[in-house]
Amino acid sequence: MPSIIELPETISELSDEGKALFNRFFDIRGSIGKMVIPEEMKPWIEKTFGGVASVEQQKIIKIFNKVTFESAMFNELRAKRPIEAKTDDSVTKEINESAGDPFCKPLSMTPADSFGRIKGKFCITASNVAKYDGLHGLVIFNKHNPLDFTEKEVQDYFHTSLKWFDKAHKSNKEAAYPFLLWNCLWRAAASIIHGHFQLVLGEGKHYAEAEEYNETRKRYYNEYKSDYFFDFYKLHELIGLGLERKNLRVFTNIAPRKDKEITIISEKPDNNFISAVYKAANCLVKDFGVMSFNIGIIFPPLNKDEGWEDFPVIARIVDRGKLSNKTVDVGGMEMYARSNVIETDPYKVFEKIKSYF
Ligand SMILES: [Zn+2]
Repeated sequence: MPSIIELPETISELSDEGKALFNRFFDIRGSIGKMVIPEEMKPWIEKTFGGVASVEQQKIIKIFNKVTFESAMFNELRAKRPIEAKTDDSVTKEINESAGDPFCKPLSMTPADSFGRIKGKFCITASNVAKYDGLHGLVIFNKHNPLDFTEKEVQDYFHTSLKWFDKAHKSNKEAAYPFLLWNCLWRAAASIIHGHFQLVLGEGKHYAEAEEYNETRKRYYNEYKSDYFFDFYKLHELIGLGLERKNLRVFTNIAPRKDKEITIISEKPDNNFISAVYKAANCLVKDFGVMSFNIGIIFPPLNKDEGWEDFPVIARIVDRGKLSNKTVDVGGMEMYARSNVIETDPYKVFEKIKSYF
C-alpha cells in the first residue's frame, strides 16, 4: 500500500496530464524535523516509537489546497502507527446506562415542529428545543444506542429527513437551503447520547460551506472550463484514493478536515448515496473502532435558485477521536492556522472503505 508520506513519489509517477491536474489543486512540501535526544530519554522513545533514529529525524508532509486554502500535515511517526479497532467498553456501559433519556420518549419529552411530526419506520422527527436557525429539527432514532445502526435504519432516517426538509420548506418558502448533520456522541458535540440526526433549513442563503463550494466551482469553471467536483475527485482517483460507482464518487481527501475523513459526492440523494454514507459510517465504526464522528451533508437548494444548477450532494464524515480522551482534537493549528494536524494516513482509510463497494 502506498503511504501519504510517499506522496511526492506517487505524483512523480503520474502522466504529465495527471501531474498538471494535481498541481492545479495542491502544493506538497516535505520537511524533516530534527532533534537531539538525551540518553536518559532513549528507553522511553524506544518503547513509544519503536526506535530512536526515526524520531531524531522525522519526516513531515504538508499538503496545501491552493483552490480552497485547506491544509493538512502528516507526520511519518503517526501515519505509520498500526490501526487498532478497539471498542471502549466503559463507553458502551455509559451509553447503556443513559437509556431512558428524553429521546427515548420523544412524543412527551421533545417538542413537535409547528407543521407536525413525521414518523418513519425506525425514527420520528422533533423540533430542536434550542435552535441554531429558524427551522431546526431532529430525527430521533427508535434505538437508543447511536452506534447500533443497520443500512435499513439509516435509509429510513434519511428518507424521513428528506420529508422533513420538504415540509419545512412548504412552511416557509424562503427557507430552501438544507443541511443535515449527525453528531455521534459527545466528542462530536452531541449533548444527548441517544441516536439522532439534526436538520437545518437556511433562509435566503445557503450555509457558509455550501456558499463557498458554489463560489469555488464557479471560479474553477471560469478558469478551466471543467467541473470542480469531478476534477477534485479525479485527482484522488489518480493517486489511488478514489472510486466511482454510477453517479457516486467516494474518496479520502489528502487535505482532510480532521482524522479518517471520507467524502461522498453524488448527483442526487438517492438510495445509492444513502447506502454509501451508511457504508462510510459503518467502516469507521467497525474497521477503525471509531465511536464519535461528525457527518455533514450539504444538499442543493430546494428552490430553483439561479447559479446552483447541477450542484451535487456532498457528504463528509470524520472521526473525532477517543471518547475517553480528555484533549480535544481541534487546537490552535486548526482554529487559527487553518492547518489540520492529521493522525491517520488517508491510504489506510481508503484501503478499508473501498472493500465495501
Ligand atoms: Zn434514549
